[in-house]
Amino acid sequence: MISLSQTIPRAARSLAVVSLRFVILGGGPAGHQAATYAARLGATVTVIERDVFGGAAHLWDCIPSKTMISTGGAISFSRRIKGMGLEQADPEVDIEALTSRISGIQNDLHEDIVQLLASQNVRMIRGTGRFTSTHSVQVDGPDGSEEIVFDAALISTGSRPRIPDWCEPDGDRILTTRDCYPPRVFPKSITVIGSGVTGVEFVHMFSSFGADVTLVVSRQHVLPGKDPEVAGVLEDDFVQRGVKLLKGARAQSIERNEDDDGVIVRCDDGRVVRSTHAVLAIGSVPNTENLGLDAAGIESDAGGYIPINHHCVTNQPHIYAAGDVSGKLPLSSVATMQGRKVAEHVMGLHTIEHRHLDYDKAASAIFTEPEIADVGLAEAEAFSSGRKIRVTKVPFSTTAKALINNDPRGFVKIISDPATGVVLGGSIVGRHAAELISVLALAVTANLRVSDIVESLLVHPALAGALAEAAE
Ligand SMILES: Cc1cc2nc3c(=O)[nH]c(=O)nc-3n(C[C@H](O)[C@H](O)[C@H](O)COP(=O)(O)OP(=O)(O)OC[C@H]3O[C@@H](n4cnc5c(N)ncnc54)[C@H](O)[C@@H]3O)c2cc1C
Repeated sequence: MISLSQTIPRAARSLAVVSLRFVILGGGPAGHQAATYAARLGATVTVIERDVFGGAAHLWDCIPSKTMISTGGAISFSRRIKGMGLEQADPEVDIEALTSRISGIQNDLHEDIVQLLASQNVRMIRGTGRFTSTHSVQVDGPDGSEEIVFDAALISTGSRPRIPDWCEPDGDRILTTRDCYPPRVFPKSITVIGSGVTGVEFVHMFSSFGADVTLVVSRQHVLPGKDPEVAGVLEDDFVQRGVKLLKGARAQSIERNEDDDGVIVRCDDGRVVRSTHAVLAIGSVPNTENLGLDAAGIESDAGGYIPINHHCVTNQPHIYAAGDVSGKLPLSSVATMQGRKVAEHVMGLHTIEHRHLDYDKAASAIFTEPEIADVGLAEAEAFSSGRKIRVTKVPFSTTAKALINNDPRGFVKIISDPATGVVLGGSIVGRHAAELISVLALAVTANLRVSDIVESLLVHPALAGALAEAAE
């Protein structure tokens, strides 16, 4: 075990002989990461989870969506193989096989997490937890109820899809993102409401499986807040696939159409869309009601999120919040890193090796075709703040590997400081963008210079060649 003598916080120091009792509500990415790491550092950890260890991320969000997108991607790839000297293939979807592929991956990941928690002697309780005081939670589950006393606690109960008051999802034709797995049927036509990251991923997914898709876009571009050049490449792909973009429109009602068993979406500008299905992708709300926050004296904001400081500490110094409930970036990767930081802080490690989480340096990806990924400072952000930057851009069409892959779409853009050469940010649009962005994420986090990328001996032929060129 590490030496905690210098570093353990006051609350934990008085318990130095007895191991710190750490209780976690919610076993998603934030919760299970905090649990394994804190247990490894010597805490006595209990995780309470009402559904599945692995969280909504594994059950409904990242894992099933990315699995379906990967199968959809194989279909769209097969449509391009003619350009690779092959006969055109026309794959047919086998829903049963796809469903068991999704659940197979979910089961494998779930087993890995349970084994990892068990190997660190983490106690796992199935049930719903809520605070009963500043130092206790009650769990109600299939095995009865139990009161657990803690020295430190973490709230990592995640979020769920936001449902507006103008529509009532029925799980059959009017769907939330969670109603799409396992796929019972593939919609013949679907209207996607919301053109943020989740919305565009669903457009990509359903259109790959052959549905007629309409996307309701409240602004003039998809992906509000992203680089317009990046959004433009995605819109071009959507238009090529025959996706209808309803720009500048807000959905204001969705009803079942009894005549043809479909749905009617009405927009605020009078436009009406008919399709067999509609799916809402308009954000999420935190799971913080019924948690007994008042009993523990924990504050939440008007949206139900729990404010935290840079160590993920709430207004109660021994209670932490991490993941989607914290209202920071709603990403699994961020939740996981917050969980790790919580474990370090709760065990007093923050004073020796803790680096504050800088949310502005988080890499993120959109799993469309082409993929989109970015990190750090955006070009538009730099211009609006008046910051001087150097922007270099290289299209993949000049990269040997992109031509070999028969997919020259997209580009690499690097934003650096003109005086020092330090990499400040970048975006990548194209095949494997979600993997390639790791190079820029490392550069941004470690304050590397463009010359560090140029002088790396990279593989050839590889898409990363475009990164080295853009860094020149
Ligand atoms: C469609 C979709 C796709 C996504 N894809 C990606 C992606 O590709 N990459 C990415 O980084 N992010 C993705 N996200 C975001 C990602 O899923 C979330 O940011 C992530 O799941 C947050 O992790 P978390 O630990 O906060 O909570 P969650 O994963 O939501 O887990 C919270 C857990 O807490 C449990 N819980 C809730 N209340 C209680 C209670 N009272 N007692 C006990 N247990 C409780 C829940 O059952 C749940 O298992 C996606 C989101 C959506 C909607």
